[in-house]
Amino acid sequence: MKSQQTLAALLLCLSTAPAWAQSLPTIVNDEAANLVEIYKNIHSHPELSHYEEHTSALLADELRKAGYTVTEHIGKYPNGSQAYGLVAILSNGPGPRLLIRADMDALPIVEETGASYASQIKTKNASGQDVGVMHACGHDVHVTTMIGTARALAALKRQWHGTVMLIGQPSEETIDGANAMLTDHVYERFGTPDLGIALHDTNFRAAGTVSIANGAALASSTSIDVTLRGVGGHGARPQESKDPIVMAGEFIVQLQTIVSRQENPRDPAVVTVGDIHGGTKRNIIPDEVKLELTTRAFSEPARQIILDGVRRTAQGVALAAGIPADRAPIVTVLENESAPLTYNDPALTVRVKASLVKALGAQNVFDEDPITGSEDFGLFGLEGHRIPTVLFWLGAVEPKKFAAARASGHSLPGLHSSRYLPDPDLTLRTGVTAMTSVALSLLHK
Ligand SMILES: [Zn+2]
Ligand SMILES: [Zn+2]
Repeated sequence: MKSQQTLAALLLCLSTAPAWAQSLPTIVNDEAANLVEIYKNIHSHPELSHYEEHTSALLADELRKAGYTVTEHIGKYPNGSQAYGLVAILSNGPGPRLLIRADMDALPIVEETGASYASQIKTKNASGQDVGVMHACGHDVHVTTMIGTARALAALKRQWHGTVMLIGQPSEETIDGANAMLTDHVYERFGTPDLGIALHDTNFRAAGTVSIANGAALASSTSIDVTLRGVGGHGARPQESKDPIVMAGEFIVQLQTIVSRQENPRDPAVVTVGDIHGGTKRNIIPDEVKLELTTRAFSEPARQIILDGVRRTAQGVALAAGIPADRAPIVTVLENESAPLTYNDPALTVRVKASLVKALGAQNVFDEDPITGSEDFGLFGLEGHRIPTVLFWLGAVEPKKFAAARASGHSLPGLHSSRYLPDPDLTLRTGVTAMTSVALSLLHK
């Protein structure tokens, strides 16, 4: 009886311990179940880029409850429409200003994970067809991790100083959300950060682990539209036409020599034609063919070689086909759908990695190679990487599943797959632990 009373008294004492006496592991343990619940709610209610109304409202609500000053509806797109960006500030005396970013948007994919909390959401695309909506890139993990991190940093205020500036970013998948927020003067209005951090979940690491690249982390992405113009006519009388379909065939094959023959093999790059449209009927030679390209590069010289190569190849193919000057190819670089290199500042990377090792153990922190995916997080570092930023990877695959896949050589559903499904509990625990530890160390008193 006596010992039970003592235990009860101890438990009471623990549960009423002041916030400053809490430790990060205790906070993570206490919050985990609620965070998984929030995650499942966001996962089952995904919203496409430009339409993150409810996700941003949920995030704003949680951050306000955690004691942050939140401003919503930040961001302007080039067409003048309003974005659903948000900024949440927690000031804690003089010290560095740390930006932490979470992106909020989902993808037009029909979810096939079979999870009890899978998305049932459908929407119409531009052509009026029903498309699914799914958090197939794990931005639901990012939003939930931000909520957990915000709570932990608020509870651990005695351990840090400075200002935490949380960014809920819309439209990462369309690569125009960060730009929309910067165009809306987010730094002029809320202060320019000294440092910036983000994480992204991944299938190439197990839950419970993280990884980090030093220097280039994700490639730059440049979207290019090419219109090859010919002279249309009857399919049976090609001699009276200039066939843009044949030109498109030559153009696509020639493009393959940019990376293989013109680019430095030690500076990798990618050129992909993802979309091609031309013609209406088998016996008509069309007037033009439209192609949509994406290109990836890890350096500005490589990016430039690709852009020059695409232009030259288009012009060369047109020249060879005898296209008149007034029907020359049109090559358009879509700056609004392009993203710069995501560059992890080397000095900051060392600091971030050290705090990850301290929080998770060296065996759970891996060095990562750069990947050819792209992000717009780098824009928050401003031109020329003026603000040091780092993005690290958060493993999201259930560890046993990950080990089995490694052993058998099978690949697991990755980002943007209809079957990509993070292991919520361990991923969120690790994400909150990692992000909070990094913030605490960068804002250390
Ligand atoms: Zn994505
Ligand atoms: Zn993503």
